Amino acid sequence: MHADVVIIGGGLAGLACALTLREHGREPLILEAGDAPGGRVRTDVQDGFLLDRGFQVLQTWYPEARRFLDYGALDLRPFEPGAQVRCGGHLHRVSDVWRRPGRLAEMMFSPVGHWTDKLRLLGLRRQCLRGDLEALYGAHERDAITHLREMGFSQRIIDRFFKPFFSGVFFEPELQVSSRAFEFVFRAFALGDTALPARGMEAIPRQLAQRLPAGTLRLNTRVERLEGRRVILQSGEPLEAGTVVVATAGTEAARLLGDTESFPTRGTTCLYFDAPQAPVAGPYLAVNGEGHGRVNNVVCPAQLSEHYAPAGRQLIGINLHGAKEEPEALEETVRAEMEPWFGEGVRDWRLIKGYRIPEALPAQHPPVPYPGAAELRRGEALWVCGEYRTAPSIQWALHSGRRAAEGIVAA
Ligand SMILES: Cc1cc2nc3c(=O)[nH]c(=O)nc-3n(C[C@H](O)[C@H](O)[C@H](O)COP(=O)(O)OP(=O)(O)OC[C@H]3O[C@@H](n4cnc5c(N)ncnc54)[C@H](O)[C@@H]3O)c2cc1C
Repeated sequence: MHADVVIIGGGLAGLACALTLREHGREPLILEAGDAPGGRVRTDVQDGFLLDRGFQVLQTWYPEARRFLDYGALDLRPFEPGAQVRCGGHLHRVSDVWRRPGRLAEMMFSPVGHWTDKLRLLGLRRQCLRGDLEALYGAHERDAITHLREMGFSQRIIDRFFKPFFSGVFFEPELQVSSRAFEFVFRAFALGDTALPARGMEAIPRQLAQRLPAGTLRLNTRVERLEGRRVILQSGEPLEAGTVVVATAGTEAARLLGDTESFPTRGTTCLYFDAPQAPVAGPYLAVNGEGHGRVNNVVCPAQLSEHYAPAGRQLIGINLHGAKEEPEALEETVRAEMEPWFGEGVRDWRLIKGYRIPEALPAQHPPVPYPGAAELRRGEALWVCGEYRTAPSIQWALHSGRRAAEGIVAA
C-alpha cells in the first residue's frame, strides 16, 4: 500500500497535521496505535461518569486552539480564575483580581501571601504579557522557582500558591521548570478561561477527527519501525509513504527516529471517586498549600458540567505528583489525607478508577527555546511534530502539527 503522507500518531499534533495537509489538497493517512484519536487527551465513560485520563484543561487563550477548535460546539465550562488553596487547615480563595476586581480586598488580606506579594503578582502579570510569544521565549531564562525568588516573592506565597498551583501544571513539585515555560502558562491563565468541554476533554480530538474524511485515520495500528519511507507496522505489514511524519510523544518519537538522547518525563496519578456531594463547591480547583502530603489538587468536574456525573452524584478527581505506585495502592493514603480537609464523609467515597501516567509531560528544564521555531524536518521526506524538539501542551501540539504540514507542502 502507498500513502501520500503517513502520520504516525493520532494525538492533537497528528490531527492538526492531517487537517492542515487536507486544506492544501494532500492526502494524509494517520496510523494510530490506540482505539480512538486523542493521544493523551482521552476520556473514559464508566458507571455514567466521564473520566478524563488525568486532570487536564483547555486554556481558551491558546492561539492554535482558537484556530482549530469550535469552542461553541465544545460547550466549554470555565473554572473560576484562581483557585482554592488549602493552608493552615482551611480553604482560602485566591482570585485573579484583574478578572475579578471585586475580590481585591479579599485577596489583599488572604493569608496565602503577604500584601507585597499581591502587588508583585501584578508585576509578574505585566512581565508575562509583554511582547509576543517569541519574545517571551527569548527572555532571560532560569528555573521558575529562582525566577519567583528573584522577583521578590515571599516563601509563604511560593509554598502556598505558586508551588501547589503550578506544580499541578508541570507535574514538577519543586518548580524547577524553565521560567519561560512558566511564563507561557501564566500568560495562558491570565488571558483566557481555563475550561473543560461539557462532555469531557476527549471532545477536543473527536471534533478534529470528525473533520477528516473516512479512511484518513487507521486505529489500533501501531508502527514498529521506519525504514526510510517505508513504515513497518507491528503486524508486519509494510506501507510505502511519500513523506513520513512522526507525531508520537517524545520517548516513542526518539525510539522511532533512532535518537539515543534521553527524554526525561514527569508523571502524575489521578484517582476518581463517586460521592453524593462535592467537597469543593463551585467551579474551583483546590490545591494543597499545606507544604506536606501526597495530594496536589482536588477537582470536582461535575461542578462545571453536569455531564461528568450521573444525576445526583458528584465526581471527585484527586491528583498526585509522580506515578510510581498503582492508583489503587494510594486509595487509603488519599482518604486519610482528605479526611481532615472534608470530614468523615470521605470514608464513604467510592473509588471509580485511577490513572497512573508515568510519561505525562516532558521535563521542561532550561533551556527551553521558542517552540514555534524548532526544526521539524528530519530528512528529505521525514518530519516530526508534537513535543519532541518543541514543547508539550495543547497549544504547541496543534501548532507543531500545523507547522510540519505547512513545511511538507512548501517542500
Ligand atoms: C495528565 C495530563 C494532563 C495534561 N494537562 C494539560 C493541560 O491542562 N493543558 C495543556 O495544554 N496540556 C496538557 N497536557 C499535555 C497535552 O495533553 C499534550 O502535550 C498533548 O496532548 C500532546 O499531543 P501530541 O499529539 O503531541 O502527543 P500524544 O497525545 O501523546 O499523541 C501521540 C499519539 O501517538 C500514538 N502512538 C504512539 N506510538 C505510536 C506508534 N508506534 N504507532 C502508532 N501510534 C503511536 C499514541 O497512541 C498517541 O495517540 C496534559 C497531559 C497529561 C498526560
